[in-house]
Amino acid sequence: MDYSILIPLFFAIFGSMIGSFLNVVILRLPENKSIVFPASHCPNCATEIHWYDNIPIISFIFLKGRCRSCHQSISWQYPVVELAMALLSLALYLQFSISVAFPIYFIFSAALLVIIFIDSHHQIIPDVISLPGIIIGFGLSFFNPFVTWQNSGLGILLGGGSFYAIAGTYYLFTKRAGMGGGDIKLLAMIGAFLGWQSLPFVVFGSSVMGTVAGIGAMIKQRKGGKTVIPYGPFLSLASLLYLFFQEKIHLLFSILFVPQ
Ligand SMILES: [Zn+2]
Repeated sequence: MDYSILIPLFFAIFGSMIGSFLNVVILRLPENKSIVFPASHCPNCATEIHWYDNIPIISFIFLKGRCRSCHQSISWQYPVVELAMALLSLALYLQFSISVAFPIYFIFSAALLVIIFIDSHHQIIPDVISLPGIIIGFGLSFFNPFVTWQNSGLGILLGGGSFYAIAGTYYLFTKRAGMGGGDIKLLAMIGAFLGWQSLPFVVFGSSVMGTVAGIGAMIKQRKGGKTVIPYGPFLSLASLLYLFFQEKIHLLFSILFVPQ
């Protein structure tokens, strides 16, 4: 038997378990509830969930997406977050192997995943994630083989600073506040973990994704709906793209913007 599959599989399973915990954070953090107590329970009938009904991804499939006690449907968000963290963990292992960069970017990816879902639902980026994220990202840069502490520090300053400039420009043209203070702190956190070199792509990539989503929302609004589009999820997605494809991104940017 070929055992070489076991290590990647371990990282995927580990990721899915952390994803299961992140579901609790996504649900309870915006409501200021403890993320440790009480134990997982059905949000509809409050029945405590047995361990065998709490296995990431697998339990959702076996329960056919319904609570065992009250048969209320369980949000698809649970298996999606578990699967996303499983895939991120696997991708991080393939990218960084077992090295000091793995835990650094595992923490970063988990924080971004939580921000994507909380910002989508509540239009807030919790300070309890972004502010410690800035400090942790900078602190870890002293051990990070990919980002020096100078580039991390500059990333915090430029990430926070450039976003003030963009938010100001947007306000000047539209007289509306487009981006909140939460986005500014998030970009400072991204700069801390990825270095200032990531910021052109993160700002550019998130703007493109945000504009596409904005056009989609405008079409939807004409049909009677009113959609608020938070910006944090696009900043987070662009950061994840940069994390995994930075060499290709830098190559593309140098072809596009640097005179040959
Ligand atoms: Zn139930």
